[in-house]
This record gives sequence, C-alpha cells and structure tokens, in this order.
Amino acid sequence: MNPSGQTSPEEWGEQMDDKVIVDLLGQVGSLFTSSLELKETINFMLRAAANLVMFDTASVFLLDEDGRHLSAFATYPFSENVASVAKFALGEGIIGWAAEQRKVVSVADATKDRRFKSLDMGYAPKSTLVMPLESPRQLLGALTISRREIQPFSSLEQALMQVIVSQAAISVDNARLYSNQKRQLAEIAQQKRELEVANAQINEISRLKSEFLANMSHELRTPLNAILGFSEILKDNLVALSPEKQQECLENIHASGKHLLELVNDVLDLSKIEAGRMELSYDRFDVLSALREVHNVIRSLSERRDIQLTMEVVPETLEIRADKSKFKQVLYNLLSNAIKFTPQGGRVWVDAHVSDEDLTVTVGDTGIGIPREHQNKIFDEFYQLEQTTRRVEGTGLGLSLTQRLVQLHGGRISVESEPGHGSRFTFTLPLTGIDVPAVHDGKRILIIEDNKSNRELAQMVLGAHGYVVDIAIDGNEGLYKARHDAYDLVLMDIRLPGMDGLTLTRLLKSDPKTATLPIVALSANAMKGDEQDALSAGCIGYITKPIEVATFVEQVSEFVRQRDAKL
Ligand code: ADP
Repeated sequence: MNPSGQTSPEEWGEQMDDKVIVDLLGQVGSLFTSSLELKETINFMLRAAANLVMFDTASVFLLDEDGRHLSAFATYPFSENVASVAKFALGEGIIGWAAEQRKVVSVADATKDRRFKSLDMGYAPKSTLVMPLESPRQLLGALTISRREIQPFSSLEQALMQVIVSQAAISVDNARLYSNQKRQLAEIAQQKRELEVANAQINEISRLKSEFLANMSHELRTPLNAILGFSEILKDNLVALSPEKQQECLENIHASGKHLLELVNDVLDLSKIEAGRMELSYDRFDVLSALREVHNVIRSLSERRDIQLTMEVVPETLEIRADKSKFKQVLYNLLSNAIKFTPQGGRVWVDAHVSDEDLTVTVGDTGIGIPREHQNKIFDEFYQLEQTTRRVEGTGLGLSLTQRLVQLHGGRISVESEPGHGSRFTFTLPLTGIDVPAVHDGKRILIIEDNKSNRELAQMVLGAHGYVVDIAIDGNEGLYKARHDAYDLVLMDIRLPGMDGLTLTRLLKSDPKTATLPIVALSANAMKGDEQDALSAGCIGYITKPIEVATFVEQVSEFVRQRDAKL
C-alpha cells in the first residue's frame, strides 16, 4: 500500500498470481472471438483491462470513416463521459500521435509531455499509457489508460495491455466488418424491395397498355361498324328506306364519324402534351358564355337520358384569361363523364365561382360514384373502373387529358365521391398571375432531371409556352447533350444519381466550350446554404421545387432574357 491507501503497481504486480493471469488471458481470448457487437467488444476490453491493470480512467477512440479523426467511443469507469471527451485529429495530442505513428506511448506525467492535449475529464491525467488499436488490416483507433498520480505503468502491465489490445483490435475489426455486412445486406434487401415495386409498376403499366389497345380497337370498331354498315345500305340500296330513315342513317354516320374524330384527337392531344408540344393560346373570355357553348353540345346527351343539367356562375359576368378551347374541353370531359355515369333521371350540375385568387369550377353528379381506392387512379392514362352493370363507352384517357390541361394552366383538379351517391370533380384556374405568355419559339432548354414527374411537368409547362425542351435523365447524359447541342438555358436538378448537379455545373463552367451556357439550379433542397452552393458552383439562379407553375415560366423566361441581353 502506498501512503494514499492505494496498492502501488509494483505491489499489485507481485500480488497477481500466475494462474490468475493465465485464467484472465484465456477469458480475454474466448470472449473477444465470440462477440460481433462493437460496443460489447469494447466494453469487455475496458473491463478486462480494469481487472488486469490498475488505473483511474480509460478511453477508447475509434478512427472516423474519413480516416483523419479519432472520436471517443467509450470511457471507463464513467461511460457517460463519452460525449464530453474531445475529438482528436490524427497526429494531435498524445493519443493522435500514438495512433498516427502506430507506437505505444507510456509517459510518467502526461501533463508535462509537449504533445499533451486535455481530455477534459475534470482532472489532469498523470501517468498515461496509450496504445494504438490496430488489426492486421488497418488502424482502428487507440486506447488510453491513466492514473491521477505519477505511477508509471510497468512493463508487465504494458505487456498485459498489449495482449488485450491486440485481441480487441481483431474483434473490433470483425465487429466493423460484421456491421458493414449487415448494412450492405439491409441495402440489398431495400434495393430488392424497390426492384419489386418497380417491377410491379412495369407489369401494371404493361397490363394497362394491353387493356388500352383492346379498348381502343373496340372503341374504333364501334363507330366504324356503324359508318360502314349504314353507308353500305345507302350505297347499294340494300334496304328500301323512307327519306326519314335515310336521313337517320346519314345522321348516324355523321355522329359516328365525329366520335371517331374525338377519339383520335384525345390520343393526339395526350401524345402532344407528353412530348411537351401542346401550346396554349390564351384569351380573355367570360366563363358563362364558355359554359353555355359546352351546354349546347352536351344537352342532347343529358336529355336523351332524362338527366337534369344545371349551371351556375357567380358572379355572372366573371371573366378569365385562359385557352378557351382547352377550358371547354375540360368542362366537356367532366360533364360527359358525369352524364355517362349517372343513371336515368339523375342530376348533373356545374358551379363556377371565385375563391381566393382562383376560379373554382365543380362538376357534380348523383351518379354511381367512385370507390375511394380508385379515386387517385382514375387520373392515370387508360384507367377505367370495371363497370359490371352496363358497358360504358370511353377510352380511359379523358381524365388524364383533363388533369394535364388544368395543370398546363397552373391549376389543380381533385375528386370527392361516394359510391352510390355521386361524384364531384373540382378544378381551379388561377385568375391572376397568368398573362398572355410571350412566345419563345426556337429557344432551347435542356432539363437535366432524374425524376420522371418533375421532368414531364417542367417540359409540359415550358413546351406550352413555345420553348423547345430537351431532356437528360442523369448527369452523364446532361454532360453529353450540353457539349454536343446548342441550348439557351440549362435547368439543372442538384440531386442527380451518379454525378450530382453541382459537380456537373462546375465541369461545364470549366470547359471553354460550355462555359457561357447559363445554368439555373432546380432543386428541392430548401436549406439556406444550398442556393449559395449552387451559385458558387456557377449557376446564375436557383428555382426551388416543387415549381409554382404560374411563376415558373416567368422565372425561366427572365433567365433567357438575361442571356439574350448579354449576347
Ligand atoms: P373514360 O370516361 O373514357 O373511361 P376517363 O379518364 O374520363 O375515361 O375516366 C376514367 C374512369 O373514371 C371512368 O372509366 C370511370 O370508371 C371513372 N369516372 C370518371 N368520371 C366519373 C363519374 N363522374 N362518376 C363515376 N365514375 C367516373
């Protein structure tokens, strides 16, 4: 015993009988190899060290993933101290030095050592032993044990610690490999799940396409049958017909021809929107007159099925600025559906009024309704509900076209419905913010964006305003296109798979061939520093996603104007 009542290292060493040491070392070996959990391994190492060697505190530092810093992972005996223990750069302090040099350091008084850097444990460690934690594969960190008094660690103690540390290093390495493996397995499982979802989506799309083709051929055949049949009767005088019957035949042929045209137009409109080539032709008109025009076309349908059709516009003189024919098309699609899916004697109504900055139009019916689980899907192309009671004509394109036309105007569409009680489709169109757009014929924009919906929306909106839009779905394709084609502006998504948007921007800016090409960041990152990062990389502006359709075109046009002014 020394005067402070503690056993001195020498006395302690003498008290240790050989058998105890051999037993302990045996335990060390078996326990280290059995655990694959990092925390457990390290806690055991500290406990084993405390059983074999006397010290006041111990800390274990692990090398960060960057390989340049050592962070405290565990402390002993007060594990809660971990958070307050300093982090060292490799080479910094005694610990950093020992790890970097991969050398054991034993000092009688750490505070006197020129490399000393406080661990902030509430007291200054005196005699200190630092050992690098090193597996045959790599440096993993360091272990340090200290005493409050000057009592240097003996060579026996150092040798014991060396055994523990060497064993622990292998276990730590294994634990890390194991946790990496676990992470990789989890990633693979996640990728597998994503693939399964993507696969299911592809199958669903393919199913819908086949269904659409079958539907489409049926839809084409029905009016064609009528046209061919009736025209044959008239052409070859197959049946003796009264003049009235002949007139009926002609009207039937005419109506079937019109139906065919509508069908073909729907398909063409959709493919135009898909390709970003649908242009809106803005006009100022009053809502009531547009509604009346649609009413005139659709009235015969409702009368035939004895459906009461009413319309209300508040205020009656309400005017909007939009593409009138597209506005009428939206109303026509919604109204013809409402009539189609409402049984004889039901009611269909249109209500248009101003709410906030929008025109809100509701088309309601007392028809068969739509179950909740189908309400989102009916806006998808080709989607139709199974109609068990009767065959209803249609191609499943009407609502998807309607939704896109509303979006092109900067509006939204939604549905509320209860099976058996009818449906209400509501769409809005902004009353302000949309001015007659300038035509940007020939201005070429490259959108580099990996997300399909974002891409399509931007392409659709810009295409509708006369821009020629090209698409790249990742950084490499973007780089190739920017180098090989001429553009007036690039809209660059920041989070791209592979090469990210900032790297690509820097690359384009550093290449004399593309350095003058204006790049605008298009990003969902809403953090403060993100805009600065984009500007530093060389972007001339920053547009946040989701884009505001009404202002998006204006923002883009302003960037294009700035470029034109520079040329
Ligand atoms: P189509 O009418 O040509 O089948 P749409 O895209 O217009 O295609 O509509 C898709 C589907 O949504 C319809 O087939 C129908 O099942 C459902 N639907 C649309 N409008 C209504 C409505 N008002 N009431 C009930 N179901 C509707």
